[in-house]
Amino acid sequence: MSKPIVVSGIRPTGNLHLGNYFGAVRSFLKMQHDYNCYFFIADVHSLTTHPTPGNLQAGVKQVLAEYLACGIDPELATIFIQSDVTEVMELYTFLNMNAYLGELERTTSFKDKARSNPENVNAGLLTYPVLMAADIIIHKAQFVPVGKDQEQNLEMARKFAGRFNRMYNNELFPLPQPFTFDGGDMIKVPGLDGSGKMGKSEGNGIFLYEDPKDIRKKVMRAVTDAGPTEPNSKKADAVENLFTLLKIVSTPDVVTHFEAAYNNCEIRYGDLKKQLAEDIIDFTAPIRERILDILKDDVYLGKVAKRGAEKAHESAQATLKEVKEIIGFRRLY
Ligand code: ATP
Ligand code: MG
Repeated sequence: MSKPIVVSGIRPTGNLHLGNYFGAVRSFLKMQHDYNCYFFIADVHSLTTHPTPGNLQAGVKQVLAEYLACGIDPELATIFIQSDVTEVMELYTFLNMNAYLGELERTTSFKDKARSNPENVNAGLLTYPVLMAADIIIHKAQFVPVGKDQEQNLEMARKFAGRFNRMYNNELFPLPQPFTFDGGDMIKVPGLDGSGKMGKSEGNGIFLYEDPKDIRKKVMRAVTDAGPTEPNSKKADAVENLFTLLKIVSTPDVVTHFEAAYNNCEIRYGDLKKQLAEDIIDFTAPIRERILDILKDDVYLGKVAKRGAEKAHESAQATLKEVKEIIGFRRLY
């Protein structure tokens, strides 16, 4: 039996942070053994924020090295760069004919970005979910490992896939389902600034590549409150976020210890932050070492990208041929 197909990508708009790792990459590592995985670097998606050519190239190389340093294995998974597989852009064009302004404007991620960057509300941002749908369905993916922030975009991918199937009365595209690491809910890793989501464009990331000194500084500066005065009181959002991060990187006994201290009103946030910083560093330091090593090896990075492009191209080309046939494109020569 053939393995189920998986697609997921990350934009090369900055270094990978803990949100990317625990929202997506951790699932990649698990899935690469038993699924047919396509993991890509979404450089075309990143154009919505207008990177300079130099930043774009550096970002792609960095994220490729970071994927590999995390343990994504090019012998197991297909690792590729989005712009190397131009079939996706063709499918994106076709899907756009069937994507409606109203539904695109209502997408939460579009509304958020339009609000935070009113001077750059470009059409690429509006049709982001269409390109994302093309990325996924061009390989006929059944599963997509992503974080909670992508839940709605993934729902749109299902909508566009289903719409194509219905319009042309066929079952070409499976409807892609979310995949989570532990089979539970999709996760959202919070930032340390009291905001909801850790993100590259939120400017609140703790990066896998980050120097331990800087990680300590960031964690120690995290927002807290004056501390609980009543036993078992509800935590403020910023404090809850610290506990969420602790649950992600620390051992259960550490979490239990600080939970009890909070509930008894004996918590010292300084101690909690010190522990959190050291546990983050224990996790990131070996990855950082590997990133530094891999970045030195341009020949290896080139080989991985070339092999990935070939494999992804093969799969995308096969689907696009079927799509064109179904739509009714016929060569007259
Ligand atoms: P940008 O700010 O440029 O959108 P990002 O930090 O949101 O960058 P993406 O490249 O958009 O990162 O997302 C890559 C993957 O990481 C997606 O699967 C996304 O769901 C996941 N991800 C990003 N941030 C988080 C987070 N805070 N918690 C869980 N998953 C996340
Ligand atoms: Mg994002």
